[in-house]
Amino acid sequence: MNAVVLTCAHCGAPLSQPRSIPAESLWPCLHCGALLRVHRDSPPTLERTVAADVTAQLRALVLSGKRDEAIRLGERSGVPREAVEALASSVMAGILFSQRLTPASMALGLLWLGVFAGGVALVVSGYAFAWGLVVLGAILPLPLIQPLRTTLRMMGLPSGVATVRRVTHLGSRELRVRVELFAFDVMVTPSSGEPFGGTLLVPVRASSVPKAVVGARMAVRFDPQDRSFIRFERLLG
Ligand SMILES: [Zn+2]
Repeated sequence: MNAVVLTCAHCGAPLSQPRSIPAESLWPCLHCGALLRVHRDSPPTLERTVAADVTAQLRALVLSGKRDEAIRLGERSGVPREAVEALASSVMAGILFSQRLTPASMALGLLWLGVFAGGVALVVSGYAFAWGLVVLGAILPLPLIQPLRTTLRMMGLPSGVATVRRVTHLGSRELRVRVELFAFDVMVTPSSGEPFGGTLLVPVRASSVPKAVVGARMAVRFDPQDRSFIRFERLLG
C-alpha cells in the first residue's frame, strides 16, 4: 500500500486524511475552506469554495456537540452532509493530535529513535540491508511531531487550575484504546492573575469517563497571549 499525502487543490495545504479513501468523496480543507473531490487514482480536484465564516461556524457547532445543527447549516450553505461529517471527523482528529505526548507515546518515540540510530550504525558498519531500519525509524515517529511540539510549547507556559463548568461529549475515536472526546467549558484560575473562562478539548479514556463531570479540577497550561490555547496536564483529586 502506498502512503499518499493528499493536498488541497485550492491552497496546497496537506489534507487531513480520510482513514480509507472511498471510490470518490468530498473532503473539506481545514485551511482555506475549499471543498475537494477526492478520487482514488488521481489528485483531489476543487469542487467549490466555502465562505470562511461558514467553515468557522461549522467548526464551532461541531466543537459544541451540535452536529445535527452543523448538518442543517451545511444544507442551507450548499455543503453536503458527507463533507460536514468529514469536517467533524477532522476536527476530532485535530483534538487528538493537539495534545501533549503521553508517557506511552514518548516511550514509542524513543524506541523508533533507537531503531533509527541502530539502523544508521549498521549501515555505517557495512550492513546495507539496514537502510530499511533507517527509513522505518525516520517515518514511524512522524505522527508524534505535532504532540512533541505541543509538549515543548506547554513547557514554557504558565500553569493554572481548570474547573469544569459544562461537559459536552463530541464523539469517540478508536486508537490503541477507545477514547471519548470531550469539550469542557472551564474556568481557569492561573497561579497568578485573574481567572478566565475557556474551552478545554480533551480525549478521555473510557475508564476515566466517570471523572469527566461538572466540578472536576484539572491542572492545565495556557498561553496568556492566546487564551484559546489551554491544554490538559493532569486530573487533580
Ligand atoms: Zn485548502
